[in-house]
Amino acid sequence: MTPIQDVFTLSLNSVLDKELVHKIARLGYSRIPVRECDDSYTYIGMLLVKSLISYDVNEKLPVSHFQLSSLPEIYSETSCLDILNFFQEGKSHMAMVSNNQGGYGGALGVITLEDVIEGLIGEEIVDE
Ligand code: ADP
Repeated sequence: MTPIQDVFTLSLNSVLDKELVHKIARLGYSRIPVRECDDSYTYIGMLLVKSLISYDVNEKLPVSHFQLSSLPEIYSETSCLDILNFFQEGKSHMAMVSNNQGGYGGALGVITLEDVIEGLIGEEIVDE
């Protein structure tokens, strides 16, 4: 997984102005976990970057304007194979890994299909 301190996140009230949209494009992630507000560690979903394709940065809309996708929670003890099966169900290709106290307050990091495959084959996948 990618540890939570290295995860690029947004909050519901983040304003998608030119600077922020350029930063998102530069980082190149497809999915961005979204927090309830700036000083919250409660994750309420994720923004799919592809939903910004036709977005006009001059509109300066907040993240809350966009339809968020669900960000499922997975416990840190879950095996790679179980996570792979979960991803294969097709509901999401990213999950929030949390400690067993439950709730996103215990967020440890995010895991994607790529992380799981790397874990299973024991090698890093270098994106094109
Ligand atoms: P992407 O399609 O965005 O490149 P991948 O699913 O291919 O994402 O994952 C590539 C790596 O990037 C994985 O290690 C994953 O944990 C990490 N990752 C994905 N999204 C984020 C994000 N928003 N912030 C930080 N790391 C991320």
